[in-house]
Amino acid sequence: MTTSEQLFEQAKQVIPGGVNSPVRAFRAVGGTPLFIKSAKGPYIYDEDGKQYIELINSWGPMILGHAFEPVEEAVREAIQHSFSFGAPTRKEVEMAELIIDMVPSVEKVRMVNSGTEATMAAIRVARGFTGRDKIIKFEGCYHGHGDSFLIAAGSGAVTMGTPDSPGVTKATALDTLTAPYNNLQAVEMLIDNNANQIAAIILEPVVGNMGCVLPEPGFLEGIRTLCDQHGIILIFDEVMTGFRLAKGGAQERYGVTPDLTTMGKIIGGGMPVGAYGGRADIMNIVSPAGPVYQAGTLSGNPIAMSAGLAMLRHLNEHPEVYTRLDGIGGRLADGFRAGLVKAGLNYTINQIGSMFTLFMTDRSVSNFVDAKSCDLPLFGRYFHAMLKRGVYLAPSQFESLFVSVALTDDLIEQVIQANEESLMEACQ
Ligand code: PMP
Repeated sequence: MTTSEQLFEQAKQVIPGGVNSPVRAFRAVGGTPLFIKSAKGPYIYDEDGKQYIELINSWGPMILGHAFEPVEEAVREAIQHSFSFGAPTRKEVEMAELIIDMVPSVEKVRMVNSGTEATMAAIRVARGFTGRDKIIKFEGCYHGHGDSFLIAAGSGAVTMGTPDSPGVTKATALDTLTAPYNNLQAVEMLIDNNANQIAAIILEPVVGNMGCVLPEPGFLEGIRTLCDQHGIILIFDEVMTGFRLAKGGAQERYGVTPDLTTMGKIIGGGMPVGAYGGRADIMNIVSPAGPVYQAGTLSGNPIAMSAGLAMLRHLNEHPEVYTRLDGIGGRLADGFRAGLVKAGLNYTINQIGSMFTLFMTDRSVSNFVDAKSCDLPLFGRYFHAMLKRGVYLAPSQFESLFVSVALTDDLIEQVIQANEESLMEACQ
């Protein structure tokens, strides 16, 4: 028995399913999750002392590699002054100023502790601002575990939502309408059928949560226009894409400006941080400036702000990071494509910058139905073949890979080689 296997058995006795977040349990791919002991730069090490090349990177935050020294240094400095005050600090002001500088659509911002908190708050604010109850989300987009977001699409765009999880009330589900990603017509129909009732449309401007799915030309612009025409608040959930696809996130890359933006992951440098922000007239209704309540004892925590500030300052001052990330993403995608050709497979790769997914399907993937056509048992075999070769991938087909700048040219070649061998092995 490996140490990870022992720990997993122990964990299952005291933690539901043995993990503190479901995907970690390896349910989608089978086997035992690796229990992680440490990580540095491009590598992660498990409790059995094995080394893996990191392509999860804490699901996004470790964009500069693990234990990046300026972030470590900032945390070391910060802990000398105690860990939490529950009071305003200079650092959170600097953090807000830096976010506003990097993401121009954000005029005012509120710090929270996770992506989930950010999206929950953003829709409350949109509802408070518009005086409307319903929201539109897209099938396959994930916005954290807030009740309003755990809604399945049902059969077709006009179907009312039904809860995806026991515990979400039917009443909540009825206020969440869903449409297929990249389908403007479905959104238009929902708006027409619910005239003057839609508070917000929330979406991942590039999806990471059904695997990586890109907006088709005109989709984001079309959503922006519909929101303008109907007085709907447009929320870009940039928890994954923020500070990753560009300094200013996907909105900078695609040139489409949302009203509100939700952020997480990189913004905390690995600490539990999220934020939501946007137009000043909207954000000014947040308590205590306005009537929409939202609070947090640990929000703006000084250690978390120090880590996040060090991370964002580095990104802001080193635009070459983004050129490097695009280069790494592009080389991996090209290498993976070559591997597919060698294996005689016609599968789909979606990539933008440092986000990409190899979908085990020969359909092009532009929405959740396409993504669900993947050969999932094949993905499971591929995942374990990669792991055996020392490459740590997200343990689900419905995730994006997140590369860091710590991935050297040699490591990129190793990953490409491992992909080629793993595809062959998985297809046998
Ligand atoms: N929004 C998006 C787009 C996400 O990818 C995630 C998490 N992966 C969340 C929200 C929720 O963030 P958290 O897990 O920090 O609550």
